[in-house]
Amino acid sequence: RAKARERSSWRRFDFSMVEQVTRRLAMEKNIRKGLENGEFVPYYQPRVDIRTGRVVGMEALVRWLKPDGTVGNPADFIPVAEDTGLIVQLGERVLRDACEQARRWHLSGLPGLRVAVNISAHQFRANLAELVFAVLEDSGLDPELLELEITESTMMSDLGQTVSLLEQLARRGIHTAIDDFGTGHSSLYYLKTFHINTLKIDRSFVRDILNDENDANIVSTVITMAQNLSLQVVAEGVETAEQLDFLRRHGCPEVQGYYYARPLPVAEFEAYVRKTNGW
Ligand code: C2E
Ligand code: MG
Ligand code: MG
Ligand code: MG
Repeated sequence: RAKARERSSWRRFDFSMVEQVTRRLAMEKNIRKGLENGEFVPYYQPRVDIRTGRVVGMEALVRWLKPDGTVGNPADFIPVAEDTGLIVQLGERVLRDACEQARRWHLSGLPGLRVAVNISAHQFRANLAELVFAVLEDSGLDPELLELEITESTMMSDLGQTVSLLEQLARRGIHTAIDDFGTGHSSLYYLKTFHINTLKIDRSFVRDILNDENDANIVSTVITMAQNLSLQVVAEGVETAEQLDFLRRHGCPEVQGYYYARPLPVAEFEAYVRKTNGW
């Protein structure tokens, strides 16, 4: 009996492993094909000045426009792209697209909007500065109109390299942001040491801002701290007028979230900005 049980649990285990590996391999193959076919494109979510309601920039968020007409979200494919290293190619695609698009908007009546691009740990370690300088040169985008979003864990994994990389980027006028601030292991010491411009408060803190006293305190403290360190601060994931009101009362200068707009395809983003900014 013990043997039979052993065998059957083996079989179950084995089966799910095979299934999982097979699914991953298929996904990897599809991502490769998708990259060749240009199926990965950035959508753009407005970043808004809380006092004026005007759009001051946008975050490029990749979407997978699949041949069957469905749209894939990052949560579905970024983990596989990270594991397989395909994120480097995918990330370069998004960076190039976003810089070219920002340049086009800058020249065609939507001037001065800064585009934020998410950078994965892989990219951060793989000659990021050289790539970014090359893309800026190719696209003609003013370095001041680019911000790179990097998570705390990426920054903390090799402090020496991070410090010098952030300095290289800053010397060219490229902005950098700590993404998902508060969710990783950040240290106040590094906030002072790293050459960064912006803190993006993770939306997990914003979500319960009205009901959870701890979240409310964390958010208002981060806003004050950012101001004392002369850092820009952006609250992510603002969905309601009440959350917006809280953030306004606590002096948060910039926000992003569904309350204003979801990540939008190029034409819709353009229409949104023209309407809100009166351009
Ligand atoms: P993130 O950089 O923290 O981006 C914010 C995420 O929150 C986006 O999800 C955005 O659509 C979502 N969001 C914005 N406002 C709201 C809101 O009001 N409510 C809610 N519930 N969600 C909101 P998305 O586009 O699915 O991206 C998820 C994550 O995938 C990003 O988190 C980022 O870490 C990663 N990602 C997206 N695009 C890229 C990319 O081009 N390269 C890399 N390396 N990572 C990317
Ligand atoms: Mg981001
Ligand atoms: Mg974030
Ligand atoms: Mg995130």
